[in-house]
Amino acid sequence: MDGKIQPAASATEASQAEKPLLAYDARIAGDDARTRVVIDFDRRPEYTIHYIANPFRVLIDLPATNFGLEPDDLVARGLFSDIRYGTMAAGRARIVMTAKRPVSVVLSDVKEEGEGASYRLILDTALATEEQFSALMAKQDWQSEPSTTQESVAIMLPDAASPKSGPFVVAVDAGHGGIDNGAHGVDTKTEEKHVTLDFARELAAALNGLSDTEAFLTRDKDEFLSLPQRVQLARNRKANLFISIHADTLRQKNIRGATVYTISDKASDSLAANLAERENLSDEIAGIAFDREPAEVADILIDLTRRETQAFSINLAKSVVDSFEGQVLLINNPHRHAGFRVLQAPDVPSILLELGFLSNKDDEKLLLDPAWRKKVAALIAQAVDRYRATATANGG
Ligand SMILES: [Zn+2]
Repeated sequence: MDGKIQPAASATEASQAEKPLLAYDARIAGDDARTRVVIDFDRRPEYTIHYIANPFRVLIDLPATNFGLEPDDLVARGLFSDIRYGTMAAGRARIVMTAKRPVSVVLSDVKEEGEGASYRLILDTALATEEQFSALMAKQDWQSEPSTTQESVAIMLPDAASPKSGPFVVAVDAGHGGIDNGAHGVDTKTEEKHVTLDFARELAAALNGLSDTEAFLTRDKDEFLSLPQRVQLARNRKANLFISIHADTLRQKNIRGATVYTISDKASDSLAANLAERENLSDEIAGIAFDREPAEVADILIDLTRRETQAFSINLAKSVVDSFEGQVLLINNPHRHAGFRVLQAPDVPSILLELGFLSNKDDEKLLLDPAWRKKVAALIAQAVDRYRATATANGG
């Protein structure tokens, strides 16, 4: 190495370190015994491989990466039933490959092509036994990125003795994000995660227009947040309300209109149950390893808090439905309930709002219309204001 060019080379590296990697091409080939995945990058990718069970998954963790791939470049085949990729958080991206049966990566290598013109990541995977898969899981080291692999929600009781002063705080949660795209339009590329963020921004602006109210976004860019992280963000900011925004799909394409959900152990109906089940898959899609449920504390105070929170959540849901009546198309029985994990804060009244369905072309058109979004956001802000007036009147 020539000492003179050394500083120049590292300066280039430093400036490139801030720029995301580009994955610009990918291929997958193989059968249900062996499957090869090849991904071409513009620079040498640093990567780590992890395994998670239930279902069997292989995770490839990367630094910040732009995935400039065509939708059918990395379609699941061979050993894999599902492949997703996207941003996890600032500076981190992930590829999640879900397998039908236990698998192991038997070879992984990065090959430099054309004297640094591109770098090819090659992953050879093969069918493994359950024992081998368990051994791989037991052996792996997650220490490099503890924040994405372990989640916990500590239950803290709200401090009843000191009533909260300061503004009325609303957490506005744009559903999905990053590696979890959510639902998508029928024949379009409309992705739920973008629809929810656009709407969340509009809603936060409308809420911030109310007096003495402070709205914040759980995510303000295209990044992944686990469901417990969303709940915890609201609790950390001592939010008075949590509103999660969605626009999912249904198999029945003719069904359209808005729905307001609150949490319950038992779903109000099968539509609500199916939707909650799909929403709760979000962490699995992103390859979150140890999704700890909040510690079950058999404490009558927490029970009471939960019940009180539940009553407030239902009031808010009713207020939103009232605001929408005659203004925004609602599905029949527009207030439904099911076991949504994102609504489980014991002390923050929470609703999940399905604005409409991306499986319905008319709904999709509205969801993409800024004027419609503005109108609906204003109606929700009105509903929050009304809710707040009654909650305060009742000593809440
Ligand atoms: Zn959703």
